[in-house]
Amino acid sequence: MAVSNTKQVIRGSDKGEKSFPEDYTVEGVEKEGVQRKKARVNTRKEEKKKKDLGQEYTSTKTKKTMPAKCVKPMCKGTACTKQQKLCESISDEQRQVIFESFHAEGDLQLQREFLVRHIKSCEKKRS
Ligand SMILES: [Zn+2]
Repeated sequence: MAVSNTKQVIRGSDKGEKSFPEDYTVEGVEKEGVQRKKARVNTRKEEKKKKDLGQEYTSTKTKKTMPAKCVKPMCKGTACTKQQKLCESISDEQRQVIFESFHAEGDLQLQREFLVRHIKSCEKKRS
């Protein structure tokens, strides 16, 4: 037992030898910086989570508050009908359901997968 104790002491003193008392003062200053950084990361994470959930969030970069996402009004006009897009066949209720299930994923990667799951690719008509 005495041998292992000595080993531990040696290990401890090794660490002590590597860092001089001066280093400790520097370390103290760095710790403050790390703590500040941590807090920043947490708010960024929280805001990102809100953003992914489609909720109102404040950009940590621009400090701008972005409004919560909402279902955009159905597109009206001839542009979609000309392209034979069946926008009108999806009711506002369905659009709301799709909107909610998309944002409920709450994760950019999952949202991308959500889109991929629901995208049907078809060949482009060539004239
Ligand atoms: Zn449309």
